[in-house]
Amino acid sequence: MPSFRDGDLIDGVSSLDHYHGKVFKITDEAGMPSVTCRNVGHTQQQFDWDCGLSCVLMALDAADVCDAKDSILENLEEICQNEGFGHSTWTIDLCYLLKHYAPRLAFSYTTITLGVDPSYMNQVFYNKILKRDSERVQDRFEQAKAQGVTVLEQRVPIEDIVQHINDAGTCIVLTNANLLSCENCSHFNLSGSGDNTCNTSCFLLRTCGSSAYQGHYVLAVGFDIPKRKIYYRNPTLRDRVCKMSFERFDEARNSYGTDEDLIFVAAVNEE
Ligand SMILES: [Zn+2]
Repeated sequence: MPSFRDGDLIDGVSSLDHYHGKVFKITDEAGMPSVTCRNVGHTQQQFDWDCGLSCVLMALDAADVCDAKDSILENLEEICQNEGFGHSTWTIDLCYLLKHYAPRLAFSYTTITLGVDPSYMNQVFYNKILKRDSERVQDRFEQAKAQGVTVLEQRVPIEDIVQHINDAGTCIVLTNANLLSCENCSHFNLSGSGDNTCNTSCFLLRTCGSSAYQGHYVLAVGFDIPKRKIYYRNPTLRDRVCKMSFERFDEARNSYGTDEDLIFVAAVNEE
């Protein structure tokens, strides 16, 4: 059964007519994309630090790179240690993980900060972990090109995310969890304590504390242009597609602390 149900989106439309492989698509009268949603097997995070890893697993699922997904899942703890990030994953770490386990899968990382933003040093919630992580993170940024990891310093408008989802694949998005919401999950609330959660709400180690910023990765999988909505999968929750307006999604992903980090992942594994 498709994990994406169009009943959540559009009334009275038969879903089967609109599936093109794993992608649900409705075009407007001019043939331009109107609604698109990628069918992705959900991964719910198991701990309080693995939202980024869960998004990588979902992106691999979207690209049908199931062998990589399985081997990461089976050896999770060992991989976290070998990769050097332990339980504190930065976006650059997720990129290296993708490169190491799905070397033929095209992806690119966009951010407004190459390396570690020095201004975070002044933030209580970043400080402890920063000291430990910053050397690894800086090294990985410096080595990125040589390692075949594309990192682009740029701000990305939501239209580019929409375009990527339509044309190419999914998008791993670093958000401020305190600004995430969903128009589909009636019990979802800002504290994440509704009946959709499993006490796995994510506190990335580097953002511990009672700060206003709580880093959390989600996977953008679809959009509705007429209604100006983004569809995304939240690894905190059980299998479901969540929905936010473009404006609210932008607020969550562009919040201070996220560096506006995005990983654009293809849904086709290039042989
Ligand atoms: Zn939801």
